[in-house]
Amino acid sequence: MDEAKQSNDTGKAADAKPVRPKPAKIPRHAMPEQKPEDRIKNFMEVPFGYTPEIARAEASRCIMCKKPKCVEGCPVDIDIPGFVREIRDGNFKEAIRILKADNALPAICGRVCPQEEQCEAKCVLGIKGEPVAVGRLERFIADWERDNDMITIPPIAEKTGRKVAIVGAGPAGLTVAGELAKLGHDVTIFEALHKPGGVLMYGIPEFRLPKSIVQKEVDYVVSLGVKLECNMVIGKTYTIDELKDEEGFDAIFIGSGAGLPYFMNIPGENLNGVYSANEYLTRSNLMKAYDFPNSDTPIVRSKRVAVIGGGNVAMDSARTARRLGAEVALVYRRSRNEMPARLEEIHHAEEEGIDFNLLTNPIRINGTDDGWVKSMTCIKMELGEPDASGRRRPVPIEGSEYDIPVDTVVVSIGNGANPLLPNSTPGLETNKWGNITVKDDSGLTSIEGVYAGGDIVIGAATVILAMGAGKQASRAMHEYLCTLPS
Ligand code: FAD
Ligand code: SF4
Repeated sequence: MDEAKQSNDTGKAADAKPVRPKPAKIPRHAMPEQKPEDRIKNFMEVPFGYTPEIARAEASRCIMCKKPKCVEGCPVDIDIPGFVREIRDGNFKEAIRILKADNALPAICGRVCPQEEQCEAKCVLGIKGEPVAVGRLERFIADWERDNDMITIPPIAEKTGRKVAIVGAGPAGLTVAGELAKLGHDVTIFEALHKPGGVLMYGIPEFRLPKSIVQKEVDYVVSLGVKLECNMVIGKTYTIDELKDEEGFDAIFIGSGAGLPYFMNIPGENLNGVYSANEYLTRSNLMKAYDFPNSDTPIVRSKRVAVIGGGNVAMDSARTARRLGAEVALVYRRSRNEMPARLEEIHHAEEEGIDFNLLTNPIRINGTDDGWVKSMTCIKMELGEPDASGRRRPVPIEGSEYDIPVDTVVVSIGNGANPLLPNSTPGLETNKWGNITVKDDSGLTSIEGVYAGGDIVIGAATVILAMGAGKQASRAMHEYLCTLPS
């Protein structure tokens, strides 16, 4: 029957025109996900993702702005209305082509990028209602490509005979490797750990970013002709100078991340049962200890864990501890509004029963006679005047100290740059925090032919910023390689 002849739920005559909601009036589509009571008992991914029907319905909310604000918010300039339009029209192959032209790791970005601060924050539909769910659509179309074996290898330029070394197989290094391999250069990635992927593999937990997806993205980069050498610590196995002078690499990109955990320097931090978030998450993810005894590495099964911090890393640690069977107290010195973690992570952590101790700061970790954590002493805080970061400074409330009984403490207050590379590379300049300094967006360091990008340059940040830096550096490196005498 002709749709216009059917009755509709407005009660109008059957031959009246159907009432179609304006795109902006259609509510944003939620992603189906595991219930909190189920997911705290497993490490499987929390959201199930959109079905093709939901994805097309969500895509149809986009009003295809002529000057799309969403693109202004995207660090890698994805043609957002372009790929959203193709999803809306059911042209999924074209949608992924458009998306991948600017983003080589869409299944990852669709899952972990802070879209609420980037593209979705700028979407015009967000002014009066809810923005288009750009991240969920990105995730949908990348999963569709992978699940349907649609991944294709792009054309590779003729070999240039130039050799490039990449230090670190995180998102920055993988991006540079993929871009330069497509341009015909001979690329080798040297990775310190036994698995590539950087934080995507060892930091972000399986329930937020399945490792099989990270591995597929790495496989894609390798399929472009990139060589990958794991268990190679540059600065020890080879120095940067040796790569250049003895191994014959014409250019080098350093994407070694920010893997050095900060501690609070409070009494008791050396007790048994105190971990950096890095160690705690790496054990669980990279060594698959969460799956012990099916995996070889055991992990502490705590009764009550305190996680210190309010960022994504803190949320990941708290939610991991919860899945390992613990009661979890999150301790953060500011209020919920100042938490740097993604809203979705905070929401999921709250749903999973993490006990948020806000405006609270640890001052001491207390131990048993045999050196194990037994409790943590905290002090209540209030917010004072804004500090240099623009956020209101937390000020201790005198006399408000109290003890939280815990057997494990996970310190998750940030990471800095590992000094190994600067220390082993004469002439490689760093700033006062130990980050490698670069001349401009090209990522050129103080040494000719040596570039850097990602967390090692800007400090612990985001996946998309690391990829964006990698993309810019790859352009500059290509230009540099093309100018070298043959
Ligand atoms: P990394 O991902 O750190 O990769 C660096 C790689 O270099 C590593 O594999 C390391 O082993 C290797 N390496 C280091 N030194 C050497 C050496 N000397 N020789 C050889 N290899 C070396 N960002 C988001 O956008 N969204 C999120 O939800 C999010 N959640 C996060 C959760 C956690 C737990 C963590 C830790 C970070 C999170 N981030 C998130 C931040 C994001 O993962 C990083 O900003 C990003 O991975 C940085 O990429 P990178 O390539 O610069 O470095
Ligand atoms: Fe679509 Fe929003 Fe971008 Fe406009 S700003 S093109 S509505 S996603």
